[in-house]
Amino acid sequence: MEITELPKGYTKDELIQPQTKLSESNLKSMLRSMNLKVTNQRLSILKALNKGPKTHVTAKDVFERVSAEYPNIGFATVYRFLKETSRFGITSELRIGYAPTRYELKVREHHHHIVCTKCGKIVEFQNEIIEDQIKKVGKDHNFSIEHHIFELYGFCNNPNCCK
Ligand SMILES: [Zn+2]
Ligand SMILES: [Zn+2]
Repeated sequence: MEITELPKGYTKDELIQPQTKLSESNLKSMLRSMNLKVTNQRLSILKALNKGPKTHVTAKDVFERVSAEYPNIGFATVYRFLKETSRFGITSELRIGYAPTRYELKVREHHHHIVCTKCGKIVEFQNEIIEDQIKKVGKDHNFSIEHHIFELYGFCNNPNCCK
């Protein structure tokens, strides 16, 4: 069985800081850091990640935004490009169960997510104790930790959603 999209039972993600507004030249240098030529299509994909309404977007969300401007762009192109941005560390991926991966630009401050597995609401948080503990675990095992992914999953308290 294929689960395509989570129900849209929430209005917007709760962010710890406003969504970044990067300049066009910032976005262009991101493309160059991926050893890619700057094209309008690629730029428009990065622009779709760079401005709301949602910060954590699926390939489908991005495709819908970009194809409004470039009707000939294929979904596979958007999908593959997003995978590449993740590989180059420009975006981070957020996986919610079997639902499609969500992407966000990594330029935002380091943070974690609590995800409602029923309605898809995403709440961001930061926690120093967790950061310290992750470093400690690494040290205990003789690792210097370069990065980490730490996500919490559960049910939100939205009465229209989960109760
Ligand atoms: Zn986030
Ligand atoms: Zn962390």
